[in-house]
Amino acid sequence: MPPRGRKRKASAPPRRPPARLDYRSRTDGAWYASRLVLQGGLLRVMFEDYIEEWDEWYNPDAGDLASSQGVAALRARFRVTSPPLDDARCGELRPGQRLCVICATSDGQRLYYDAVLDSVKRAAHGAVDGEERCACRFRVEWTEGPRSGDLEEVGIVDVCCVQNAPVQDPVLSEFLDFVTNSFGNGKGGATASSQATGATLAPGGEGGTAPV
Ligand SMILES: [Zn+2]
Repeated sequence: MPPRGRKRKASAPPRRPPARLDYRSRTDGAWYASRLVLQGGLLRVMFEDYIEEWDEWYNPDAGDLASSQGVAALRARFRVTSPPLDDARCGELRPGQRLCVICATSDGQRLYYDAVLDSVKRAAHGAVDGEERCACRFRVEWTEGPRSGDLEEVGIVDVCCVQNAPVQDPVLSEFLDFVTNSFGNGKGGATASSQATGATLAPGGEGGTAPV
């Protein structure tokens, strides 16, 4: 998703490792475009277009990763990038659809949180330089974040579409495999990567087989 929010620093140099995922931050629970690298055995989550001090790190030896539940919880923090809603495709949205929408918080931040579509108030589309511009208004209900349960009407520029595609990221798979094999001594059943590529990351879904 496009970078918007409090962590942005315009002067930060672009960092372009190969993969790109959306990641739910430990700090505020909001979703950010991120890239992953393994560094000294740690998983480093780098927020796209934000300075290094905001990076989040995961240590495979940390206690909260010492179970299949912990691994599943970390895996659920990642999903494929949620693209902005296309102006010409607003008519394809359906009530109940899961979206990721910019949320104006009480302290003045604009962060991405998930919401579901309640309804669409249609408006005639305009055009700018020959490109269609959606003027509809989208009524959404937040499902997470500081305004969970609230309804709000937003414009298309605030809306991204959550994808159901499974995460296939070699860095994440390698890290989760390492963690899983560490706490299970390799006896944990299916590997983390095989689970990651075989199912979506819906919370409450396949949580892996707990080692015995
Ligand atoms: Zn529209």
